[in-house]
Amino acid sequence: MIPAPFEYHSPTSLKEALDLLASKEDVKLLAGGQSLVPLMKLRLAKPKHIVDLGGIPGLKAIREEGDGISIGALATHADIEGSELLRKRCPLLPQTASTIADVQVRNRGTLGGSLAHADPAGDLPAAILALDARMKAVGPKGERWINAEDFFFGLLMTAVEPDEILTEVKVPVLEPAKTAYLKAAQRASGFAVVGVAACLKLDPRGACEKIAVGLTGVADKAYRAAEVERRLTGQRLEARPIEEAVHEVCRNIEVIEDINGSKEYRTHLARVYTARAIEAALSA
Ligand SMILES: Cc1cc2nc3c(=O)[nH]c(=O)nc-3n(C[C@H](O)[C@H](O)[C@H](O)COP(=O)(O)OP(=O)(O)OC[C@H]3O[C@@H](n4cnc5c(N)ncnc54)[C@H](O)[C@@H]3O)c2cc1C
Repeated sequence: MIPAPFEYHSPTSLKEALDLLASKEDVKLLAGGQSLVPLMKLRLAKPKHIVDLGGIPGLKAIREEGDGISIGALATHADIEGSELLRKRCPLLPQTASTIADVQVRNRGTLGGSLAHADPAGDLPAAILALDARMKAVGPKGERWINAEDFFFGLLMTAVEPDEILTEVKVPVLEPAKTAYLKAAQRASGFAVVGVAACLKLDPRGACEKIAVGLTGVADKAYRAAEVERRLTGQRLEARPIEEAVHEVCRNIEVIEDINGSKEYRTHLARVYTARAIEAALSA
């Protein structure tokens, strides 16, 4: 399919991109194009203006900053997968990025695009939630930081306003890092039928001081398994308490159903993969 006609803009500064967003009607930002372009080719999206973020300098850097790591929104999945800094200091993100699709998609697709698109089967939202990351959105009123838990609203909906651009993601340094991302992938695309990101901190006695579990693929948006976290905090993470806790992974969640799996199948996968992700994080 060929997309509907559109006007292409290639700003060379953030200000120019924001001005275009403010002055044109029916505008879409373009990052890696790995979600937007297929939608345009199917004519499910027919924007009149495309604002390509690729020519704006400074939106790709990955660097340590204070007590965290700052990642530019245009960093590709491959940049994240290959970053020595992230591998050493926050390995959950490279672990997650490495499971996305294939090398072609990872070379083009971006962290910012993946988060802003908020595909309910996207991998990175689960990791971003488990990491308690923060996202920076810049708009006509200036910049603001959005906590991961307030970021995802629902199917393809986020807290980023139509006149804002997501420019940066801040993740914490995790050392020693007890993290893992595991997913049951849809075979053709690699998208998560169910994906689970687990992030643990143990106290000196070996009990669970802090646990964060982010899930994707299960509902219309990625979410934190609050009840699993509540039950396991303070416990020794042995097989029995994990098994009991993961039964609550879909508590208060409207589990989705589609050609890739029924509600029952997804609930089962969510329990199995949550237990496996916690065990994998424990032995990381
Ligand atoms: C064959 C195939 C397989 C895939 N498999 C997987 C998979 O296994 N797991 C997975 O997680 N993903 C998968 N994807 C999606 C991929 O990860 C995309 O890279 C990602 O969803 C979107 O990132 P992008 O940079 O390509 O964004 P784009 O497609 O350019 O943009 C997506 C949306 O986000 C908006 N946007 C982009 N950047 C910004 C920004 N900085 N600020 C505000 N809005 C912005 C755009 O306007 C658009 O609405 C797959 C894609 C393809 C084509």
